[in-house]
Amino acid sequence: MSRAPQAPYSERNDVSVLTNYDALIVGAGYAGAVSARRLAEDGGKKVLLLERRDHVAGNAYDGWDQNGIWIHFYGPHIFHTNDKRVYDYLGRFTQWRPYEHTVVADLPDGRGGRMNFPVPFNLSSLEIAFGPEAGKALGDKLIAAYGAEKKVTILELRQNPDPEIAALADYVYEHVFVHYTMKQWGQRPEDIDPNTTARVPVFLSRDPRYFQDTYQAMPAEGYAPMFEKMLDHPGITVEVGVDALKRLELTDGVVKLDGEPFGGAVIYTGQADELFGFRFGPLPYRALDFRYEVLPQDYFQSHGTVNYTVDEDFTRITEFKRLSAQVKPGVTTIMKEYSKAYTGAEGEIPYYAVINPENNALYAKYKAEADKYPNLHLLGRLAEYKYYNMDAIAARALALTDRMI
Ligand code: FAD
Ligand code: UDP
Repeated sequence: MSRAPQAPYSERNDVSVLTNYDALIVGAGYAGAVSARRLAEDGGKKVLLLERRDHVAGNAYDGWDQNGIWIHFYGPHIFHTNDKRVYDYLGRFTQWRPYEHTVVADLPDGRGGRMNFPVPFNLSSLEIAFGPEAGKALGDKLIAAYGAEKKVTILELRQNPDPEIAALADYVYEHVFVHYTMKQWGQRPEDIDPNTTARVPVFLSRDPRYFQDTYQAMPAEGYAPMFEKMLDHPGITVEVGVDALKRLELTDGVVKLDGEPFGGAVIYTGQADELFGFRFGPLPYRALDFRYEVLPQDYFQSHGTVNYTVDEDFTRITEFKRLSAQVKPGVTTIMKEYSKAYTGAEGEIPYYAVINPENNALYAKYKAEADKYPNLHLLGRLAEYKYYNMDAIAARALALTDRMI
């Protein structure tokens, strides 16, 4: 990856170099990095990629902590996809290490202790929660109602009129969903976008995995090295630590870069509201606080992620050695996630769009504004105001650049 000088643009004298770029990309997460590589390599374009943070990889960024543990800096990132094209494309820039994520809930057992059961709540969870016999009977009943290996969302399950199934639905709602969702979103499951809780359905199976995708793996050396390799192409210039909005101007259908009209493709992967100066009001997001703890022990918990579904103020604890398979005796790093409303304060990051009809309508105003600029493309989790996983964003970048090349 060729890194341009870090001095503010105004201090540089080689202004003319900018006019040589065919494409401008804002943001070096999946949306920006996959697009940059495609346009440079398969489109033969000269690409300028601007990233506000001091590193590439967006929220997938990872690296060593001060204790020599490989950690994820913006929350646990587990790669999984059914999209072979995405898996193979990213696989050009990394070896994959097979990894299947499993999660348990940790909650009070009602007798003064704590209990764990698999999440998504499944047939094994039922037996842990209700005892082997009653749990098995309930499982059989659910299978008779919905079918073996089926996934049923909690909101669907709560519609079931059978009193036994309704009581079970209430149990799962209370012990898995309502408190966790209140912590994560500040709202009850029935008041948020149904697709959100549908990500973690009740699963009529003994499969303990969090995901059932065909391809489940982690980049063997980490996400950041995969991004470095992806961006290492002579057609790509990356500038990190640069806020593109300080250099862009959007007026009357014309995008200007450093005061000059820029006619090439512009792929913007940041917040849509920020791009247009919040002129219709800010789009709501959820932010997170990550609190890391270094512990003098081999391991802290049994699984990569443990969800605290009933009590505690944090939603979940991730133990990074479990994700990376790093062998390092006597020390481990864990991270607790605390969710809060995004306020736009300095240093806060908008991690999750708060999807609902009202906010979607507000987003549509920004999208309509963007559509007035023929060479401007909004791409990515922030720019499209959607709850997309990594693979979905990579797929969208491939599809957009297919159309552009
Ligand atoms: P981002 O990664 O957010 O990249 C956008 C980039 O644009 C950022 O680097 C930002 O700094 C930059 N930018 C914004 N504005 C400007 C500007 N004005 N100038 C310059 N640069 C700018 N997905 C999974 O598949 N599996 C998981 O396990 C998973 N776990 C997650 C856990 C958490 C806590 C979160 C928040 C997300 C998780 N995701 C997961 C989703 C994943 O992070 C996203 O799908 C992916 O990062 C989206 O890529 P992106 O390029 O759209 O956005
Ligand atoms: N959820 C829950 N309890 C859990 C796990 C998930 O209530 O133990 C709900 C919660 O609303 C959460 C959503 O399901 O925001 C999606 O969970 P997922 O693990 O996919 O969230 P992410 O990893 O994207 O934060």
